[in-house]
Amino acid sequence: MTFSVPGLAVARGIAIGRAVLVGASRVEVAHYFIEAHQIESEIDRVRRGRNAVVDELQRLQEEMPQDAPHELAALLDVHLMLLQDEMLTSGVKHWITERLYNAEWALTTQLEVIGRQFDEMEDDYLRERKADLEQVVDRILRHMKGMAHPVAPSPGSPRRKTQQDLLLDDTVDVPLVLVAHDLSPADMLLFKKSVFAGFVTDVGGKTSHTAIVARSMDIPAVVGARAASQLVRQDDWVIIDGDAGVMIVDPSPIILAEYGFRQRQIELERQRLARLRHTPAITIDGQKVDLLANIEMPDDAPAAVAAGAVGVGLFRTEFLFMGRMDNLPDEEEQYLAYRQVVESMQGLPVTIRTIDIGADKPLDKVHRGDILNPALGLRAIRWSLADPAMFRAQLRALMRAAAHGQVNILFPMLAHPSEIAQTLAQVHLARAELDARGTVHGPTRLGAMIEVPAAALMTRYFLQYFDFLSIGTNDLIQYTLAIDRADESVSHLYDPLHPAVLRLVADVISECTAQGKSVSVCGETAGDATMTRLLLGLGLRSFSMHPAQILAIKQEVLRADTRKLSVWAQNVLSGAEQASTATAG
Ligand code: PEP
Ligand code: MG
Repeated sequence: MTFSVPGLAVARGIAIGRAVLVGASRVEVAHYFIEAHQIESEIDRVRRGRNAVVDELQRLQEEMPQDAPHELAALLDVHLMLLQDEMLTSGVKHWITERLYNAEWALTTQLEVIGRQFDEMEDDYLRERKADLEQVVDRILRHMKGMAHPVAPSPGSPRRKTQQDLLLDDTVDVPLVLVAHDLSPADMLLFKKSVFAGFVTDVGGKTSHTAIVARSMDIPAVVGARAASQLVRQDDWVIIDGDAGVMIVDPSPIILAEYGFRQRQIELERQRLARLRHTPAITIDGQKVDLLANIEMPDDAPAAVAAGAVGVGLFRTEFLFMGRMDNLPDEEEQYLAYRQVVESMQGLPVTIRTIDIGADKPLDKVHRGDILNPALGLRAIRWSLADPAMFRAQLRALMRAAAHGQVNILFPMLAHPSEIAQTLAQVHLARAELDARGTVHGPTRLGAMIEVPAAALMTRYFLQYFDFLSIGTNDLIQYTLAIDRADESVSHLYDPLHPAVLRLVADVISECTAQGKSVSVCGETAGDATMTRLLLGLGLRSFSMHPAQILAIKQEVLRADTRKLSVWAQNVLSGAEQASTATAG
């Protein structure tokens, strides 16, 4: 029966496919399709993994001391029984043979299927056996890790199919939609360029970093869909409507046909926009507007060039560090990554932000949750200043990359005059260290993010020390309105058009403009076409966003007349007109 699950729209478009439920702890498991000739060897890998665990458990049984608690023996019996369970074995075979999932993926998929049945059991004792099943599967996965792996095919784009194809072909080669309770930004990186055609998560806000990465992948996504991962079953047919922020489960043929039609329309619109790629972003009244790209990894840079970006406006370097708690990238590794971006951008300017770890971007999953108020804690520049040696390693890497092209260094979340002083002192020291070492480095421009109201109110002070400012509206809205950007339960209050937010943004832009300093917006509002005219009206001429959003924003710029928009924007600021009803320009 068809039903829909509402959530928040975070990445536009329509995806139609089968649901793949992924438990939060299984995200690291590789997800890729195998070739038909690999089916037998994949099944064999699972078989060998399982046999190794059986051997291990039997050995434990034999070596068990006489005085061992009898619960332990019973537990081993249960685990051995679960290992022999026909449902596990046949289910895994099914996913490998019918869907061409790799062995690990098949195993965790079947775990979700059986786990769901355990959840529904009346009997407490039986219900709790789910944890045993999870342990058993973890053991198999661990054994499989040590085994020879077939080469994973390169993870090209998801296999998109038309709705007609889907009705005809219900076996392999069907788009897959990932459904999970929660995914961290680091998890999302694992899925970047993966086989999935869309995402749904139970939790998350519109500008949570999970949503931001989903948007950068340019595939439809819905977050904050509450119980989605409970309501959907493994392999259910689902539609993700990334425009409306809804997931439709088990759609009827009529609904499928309607969404198939919309999918084709979206594709046509994309093709139409693609023609603007080489058109300069100039308004009707001749104002030149810079459209820059936000990137998370060096490999994202070519997409920025392809989309016609005139540079990188925000490289979120923390993504290089995530999930690498025990092995953080050193100066050399960072230098190579930054240099790669500079070279990929072919002479265009690159703004690289120093690490912004903390809040909803933990360095490591393990360290999540033990901080009372992470968004107000040791985050971003505070984190860097707490570890000056690490901070300087990053600064040196950035200065070295600057020998290969124009690098602007951007500092996140500055709020205090003392932080500015300490930051600049570290910059000075880092350069002196490179000089002392005789290492080649280049000149850099220095900029500050305006992300907290305190910074916005101190624009003049900031401008005494920095060459440029970049307004991070994601955090500026969060901290001005006291709304956790990652919490879906307050997402209705997260309002980019709130008068206080608009006032802060407007004042920062006008002060920079008056002083002839460059200012951009690199938060999600910069890539939101419904905000473009207002920002232009407020005097903004530099927007940084995910490459996939650039052409839609360019279209808005080409249609705009900033003379009319600036009059209207002042009326919006004074409350005389509504931003949403504007038709100016
Ligand atoms: C912002 O806060 O608007 C911003 C661009 O930084 P991030 O989203 O990475 O916090
Ligand atoms: Mg921010």
